[in-house]
Amino acid sequence: MKLQEQMRAEFSDKTIFEKAQKYAYDYLDGISEMDVFPSEESLELLKKFDEKLPEKSTSALDTLDFLNNYGTPNTIAQIGGRYFGFVNGGAVPASLGVKWLSDVWDQCAGLYLTSPINAKLESVCEKWLKDLFGLPESTVAGFVSGTSMANLCALAAARFQLLKNLGWDINEKGLIGAPNIRIIAHEQVHASVKKTLALLGFGKNSLEWIPSDDQGRLMLDTLPKLDSSCLVLLQAGNVNTGGYDPFDKVCDMANAVGAWVHVDGAFGLWAGACDSLKHLTHGMEKASSWAVDGHKTLNTPYDSGIVLCRHPKAMVSALQASGEYIIYSDQRDPLLYTPELSKRARAIELWATLRYLGKSGINEMVQGFHLHAKRLAKSLKELGFEIMNEVVFNQVLVRFKDDDSTKKIIAHLQNSGECWLGGTTWQGKAAIRVSICSWATTEEDIAQTIALFQKAKTALG
Ligand SMILES: *Cc1c(COP(=O)(O)O)cnc(C)c1O
Repeated sequence: MKLQEQMRAEFSDKTIFEKAQKYAYDYLDGISEMDVFPSEESLELLKKFDEKLPEKSTSALDTLDFLNNYGTPNTIAQIGGRYFGFVNGGAVPASLGVKWLSDVWDQCAGLYLTSPINAKLESVCEKWLKDLFGLPESTVAGFVSGTSMANLCALAAARFQLLKNLGWDINEKGLIGAPNIRIIAHEQVHASVKKTLALLGFGKNSLEWIPSDDQGRLMLDTLPKLDSSCLVLLQAGNVNTGGYDPFDKVCDMANAVGAWVHVDGAFGLWAGACDSLKHLTHGMEKASSWAVDGHKTLNTPYDSGIVLCRHPKAMVSALQASGEYIIYSDQRDPLLYTPELSKRARAIELWATLRYLGKSGINEMVQGFHLHAKRLAKSLKELGFEIMNEVVFNQVLVRFKDDDSTKKIIAHLQNSGECWLGGTTWQGKAAIRVSICSWATTEEDIAQTIALFQKAKTALG
């Protein structure tokens, strides 16, 4: 019982929590000075974690200090203003504060019975998201770890429904011997969509592939004739260009024959919640399902993806669990809308972020990303860099002279420690991908980044 006494003491004297708070505050205070990516020296410290699993328990403080000493220097300055890698968002303070509190609650969020507050906030988020994106009243939302999982859930729902249309119950009969579903995708669908399709039993070669245009968008004139066995995969926000597919026309064609359109809008769906950018998502509300992240454009902490589906029966049937020990209530039971049972109460941070920002805050933040991206693109062009994409949203694709020079520029920028952005390949050419996705990015951060590009160019000679 000694260990239990120790833990009780740690609970009651709060030192562990106070120390964690102090380290977190130090981290916040130092965020603008720290290396955006860990230095070589810091990375060496990771070896400290190669310990044997301890034979004996230690104190809570010992473990916290260990993590702070060797872990803190090996973080990415994700919540600072100059991380432009992938499409990674920051975290609004309100969402982090609320997460701290709810971490202590340690809710098991699968059922109303195991967390009434989470179930309630899922319902509220569902309602607010439908309102923000203008989605049909019948739409239901599931709260998952990210868009990869949201895509998986939506495509499982599509698979269920399309097979049902063909007289086949996949839950009863499985996939082997099932009638054929036609899946139509253009070349630039996100890698996570290909992965989830494979998990659902649809290999790459079983898809009907069509080409994408120079902004990574579906080309209407290449779309094959659709029928009620079709699943069409669209995208709101290409990871490289930020380009948007022609939702309005494709959805009309699909709906006329009873096909299913899914929209992967991991970061880009949020344009639909911004007055000046809404035109980009025009018509997407006519799709059958949508996937979107909280942790990218909306700046919730990580582990926040949302699947939205206008056909609740299809989604619940596809994801339904039926263990007898599960007590369903007449309230919302979150497990119905996700593949998980036990899960974090992740809707709490999403709710807090939406409530804190409000419609005008979301509008302002999302528009801010676009304005920063436009400014960066304009300045870099003036400095002699090539801007390879139409900057319609928050992504800027930059190139300098040739592949070799472009890669050297990337290395120079990354080694500066002052910002971080990644390399990519666009239409066979090396490119620098800048993603503006954090509330914390300021005009000064953009100016500093432009100056870094200038220095990198000069260093090339
Ligand atoms: C990031 C992204 C995904 C995957 O989302 P996760 O939250 O990382 O799982 C899918 N599609 C697009 C377009 C993305 O940008």
